[in-house]
Amino acid sequence: MNPLLDFSGLPRFDAVQPEHVTPAIRQLLDENRALIERLIDPGTAASWDAFEQPMLDAGERLSRAWGIVGHLHSVNDVPPWREAYNAMLPEVSSFYADLGQDLALFAKFKLLAAGPEFPTLSPARRRIIENELRDFRLSGAELPEDRKPRFKEIQEELSALGAKFSENLLDATNAHSEWITDEAQLSGLPEDAKSAARAAAEKDGRQGWKFTLHAPSYMPVLQFCDNRELRARMYRASATRASEFGPEGWNNGPLIERLLALRHEEATMLGYASFAEVSLATKMADTPAQVAAFQRDMARKARPFAERDIAELRDFARLELGMDTLESWDLAWAAEKLKQQRYSFSDDEVKQYFPEPQVLAGLFRVIESLFAVKLAPDAAAAWHPAVRFFRIERDGKLIGQFYLDLYARETKRGGAWMDDAITRRRVASGVQTPVAYLNCNFPAPVGDKFATFSHDDVITLFHECGHGLHHLLTQVDELPVSGIHGVEWDAVELPSQFMENFCWEWDVLSGMTAHAETGAPLPRALYDKMIAAKNFQSGLQILRQVEFGLFDLLLHSEFVPGGNRSFMDLLAEVRREVAVLVLPEWNRFPHSFSHIFGGGYAAGYYSYKWAEVLSADAYEAFEEAARTSGSTLDAATGERFWREILSVGGSRPALESFRAFRGREPQPDALLRHNGMAAAA
Ligand SMILES: [Zn+2]
Repeated sequence: MNPLLDFSGLPRFDAVQPEHVTPAIRQLLDENRALIERLIDPGTAASWDAFEQPMLDAGERLSRAWGIVGHLHSVNDVPPWREAYNAMLPEVSSFYADLGQDLALFAKFKLLAAGPEFPTLSPARRRIIENELRDFRLSGAELPEDRKPRFKEIQEELSALGAKFSENLLDATNAHSEWITDEAQLSGLPEDAKSAARAAAEKDGRQGWKFTLHAPSYMPVLQFCDNRELRARMYRASATRASEFGPEGWNNGPLIERLLALRHEEATMLGYASFAEVSLATKMADTPAQVAAFQRDMARKARPFAERDIAELRDFARLELGMDTLESWDLAWAAEKLKQQRYSFSDDEVKQYFPEPQVLAGLFRVIESLFAVKLAPDAAAAWHPAVRFFRIERDGKLIGQFYLDLYARETKRGGAWMDDAITRRRVASGVQTPVAYLNCNFPAPVGDKFATFSHDDVITLFHECGHGLHHLLTQVDELPVSGIHGVEWDAVELPSQFMENFCWEWDVLSGMTAHAETGAPLPRALYDKMIAAKNFQSGLQILRQVEFGLFDLLLHSEFVPGGNRSFMDLLAEVRREVAVLVLPEWNRFPHSFSHIFGGGYAAGYYSYKWAEVLSADAYEAFEEAARTSGSTLDAATGERFWREILSVGGSRPALESFRAFRGREPQPDALLRHNGMAAAA
């Protein structure tokens, strides 16, 4: 039997081979297609049991099997797995694309929603149907027939424009390089940045050092290099990329105008006043006005701190660096000098306090204290000997399991992520318990010593565990809204960023650190420096994020494409309202704003800060509890967080869940306080 078709339990990592992929996935695609044929037949009743349930069951088999293939492609990217994955990727993608466009399915969903059974369904089931209808409508399914070709044309042009935007940016980035032959010109630059630049020059068969506008080369120069002329040249080259200052073929300006016009046309066709409304239709935030007000409130509260940040930096530059003016290309460099002078400590020093066993034990203790669960090692076949497997129990009963794959490998995709292997739902035989993959890329242990993690690594681990808990502690019985499924895009980072807070909590940290040599816990003085460094210039950082977010939002709501106000005019207005730093007139930031023009963040950039506000505000409930119970690891508050947020997943709107937990609307004050802006008025 093909192990990819065995759905009786955990994935069969002991048996699955690349040659199993094509036959299994083809069979599941055929099964799904045949089923859908039967479901859209007028003879099939538009009821949950006759229509939606069989579709969910078949859909789950396909997504579970394909999920295993995708996972192995990510964690064991050797040629046979890459080939097996790529061989089926187009067929799987086109199956899902067709599904979203299937008008007969849409008609059946509408029948179900209008039928007598609908009001009797559970709220979770009604939400699943409503989400289906919404997604069909957003992809144009309800347009009159004669408007559909134009809608399709717009979609195609938008995706071509997005791709061209990114290509122009990449070409313009690649077009500029700086060659340095005299090492004295590179004073201040760290050794690793220098050796990377030397390797880049060698690769081109030249002597000396080569710098480019790609972030790993560019950022260290702007931050560390004492050579002001080099910083100025690189800053200018970077800030004018893909604009009218470069080759006409790479100018993203006209593309931006066209993208905005088409997005507006799409929104109008779908019956919305602006593209921002289309974007928010699937998000937690309700209206563009609400998002604008949220960002403006944030800016108003952060502004005094940003002004203090910049005044401090100017004083420091004048007194210590002998510079009367700070240009845009001096800011990161001067800030680095100030930071060094005030809070210097080495990441390596901190790392000695975080050996893996202490970190894992500390993490598990946090989870167990908060959510009344027990974590214990468990056994399962995996894809690599370094992978571990754990079970979570509540009241002695299994509620979920997860794989933990901590270390970097050559064949593993970079970064850290959580993915679902099995999702909780109710089946004929009872409850199917969820299973998650938690993946990181930390340095593996060397020799017989334990691995030690940087503080950033520890934060990453807690973050991914937050996603994992959202998936594993769910109580929802219906797959499409169980765990992280169906959770709004701007709310999905709530549990993950929430968990990060514990990595800054003194009593949590002191309990999960032990120096690799001496066994001593993290010293308080070092902890204080870490906190101060974290909050360094946080006012400026917040204003910068708000500036981007507000510009993005107004561009997709108030702005009139083709009107007499250009998008650069709008940016200037936003900057006058929000920013405290004056940028050079020739700065063309929008031309490289690929999040919103080349990626999926249009009218969604605000989500970064939005989710941070939610998670900080939720965490504040634990800080309030600590005032009476003595610790943020407060079981009663944890139980409420679990019940109102983690356990309900996507089964109700995120705002409702937040309100149920906090007893009020989200407020930004906790986030500002966590960033050292306590006196915010
Ligand atoms: Zn995340």
